Amino acid sequence: MAEKPAKDCPNCDEILPAGTVKCKNCGLNIHTGESYEMQVKKAKGAGSSQPPTTGRLGLTILAALGFVFLAGFLYQRGMIRTIQENPDLYQTYAERLETVDELLALGRKRDAGEAAQELKSELENQLDAIGEEDATQRRLLANLISKIDRRLEESEQ
Ligand SMILES: [Zn+2]
Repeated sequence: MAEKPAKDCPNCDEILPAGTVKCKNCGLNIHTGESYEMQVKKAKGAGSSQPPTTGRLGLTILAALGFVFLAGFLYQRGMIRTIQENPDLYQTYAERLETVDELLALGRKRDAGEAAQELKSELENQLDAIGEEDATQRRLLANLISKIDRRLEESEQ
């Protein structure tokens, strides 16, 4: 009689037919010696290698956001300093912008448009007068001009 040589599972002593790779009883891999628990751990480990990558990506995004925030903060500070150095000038502009808003609120669109246009040309002259090196002041004036542009659009509606 040619019986197939059977082996006992080294883990649980289950009799395994020849050619068996995995024990039916405990899941032990006869070739690699890996138990079922080890295989599960390995599979989980492979799955959990993703989160650290995501974590690093999150950190990178956070760092980028932090940088943008800091840049915004410094930009704002530059603006504030420029305003502080030229208080009368910017207060005048701010007040005149408020006047435009009041006229718009009253429905006096034509007056608002005229006031806005006048303010805009003054700001543009100012922008021409200041040097290229004063980037913060240029941005501040450009910012005011874009605010006036929005009011001009409103007055034309
Ligand atoms: Zn077994």
